[in-house]
Amino acid sequence: MTSFSFSPIGILQSCYQEKFGIPRQPRLETEAVSELILLPPYNDLNSLRAIETFSHIWLIFVFHQTASATWKPLIRPPRLGGNQRIGVFASRSTFRPNPIGLSAVELLAVDQSKNRVSLLLGGCDLVNGTPILDIKPYLPYSDAIPNAYTGFAPKAPAEKFKINFTAKAKQQCQAFETKQQGVTGSTPLDLKKLIRQILSLDPRPAYQQQQISERIYAMRLYNFDLRWRYCENDEILVLVLEE
Ligand code: SAH
Repeated sequence: MTSFSFSPIGILQSCYQEKFGIPRQPRLETEAVSELILLPPYNDLNSLRAIETFSHIWLIFVFHQTASATWKPLIRPPRLGGNQRIGVFASRSTFRPNPIGLSAVELLAVDQSKNRVSLLLGGCDLVNGTPILDIKPYLPYSDAIPNAYTGFAPKAPAEKFKINFTAKAKQQCQAFETKQQGVTGSTPLDLKKLIRQILSLDPRPAYQQQQISERIYAMRLYNFDLRWRYCENDEILVLVLEE
């Protein structure tokens, strides 16, 4: 069979430094700003002309961190508690014959400030460094299908946790926000809100989701390790942000 080879048109920079903890679909959080930096020769403003007239775009990308893993015809989606199996093509699993991802994200701005051409994006579910193969405008008249039925994933996962911060974590969030403002100079980041949104989606693997343990979980966000644990009554305690 013919095979095709593609090269990235850009690299996505996001706050997610590892796969664990990233929302499992786009637009499940509203706070993080990601930057898609276009690579030459695609960093020509002509290739973006009129893109700012669209509020949302599709990203087609490579699941580069799992690209060499073998795929299987059946997978266990976290949504089904990790026990039930469905076909890989009936899922959004990253383990696919061709490791290609597809996400509709918000286009916030075209940016040329740092001697490079990039798109500022909201709601990305991509790990930092993800190679992007293509961008297409999102066309609601055709892409949005209000009466579509959606099998095992009828709506966004329920937010079942109340999320509390230790005094130390709260203060660390504030300190990070102040520092971050100097770096981006754009819309201020509400880090506590971002952490709330990420953790309320419960990043744990499905088989651990029923357990209450003393275990401390961590994910690498921006330049720190976010640590938290699960408590009684569906509460999560955010412990620290450790650089
Ligand atoms: N919306 C996309 C991706 C869904 S899977 C699609 O439907 O195709 C989303 C998960 O992919 C994230 O939770 C993260 O764990 C994983 N992921 C994100 N970027 C990745 C990458 N570059 N390589 C491997 N896995 C990645």
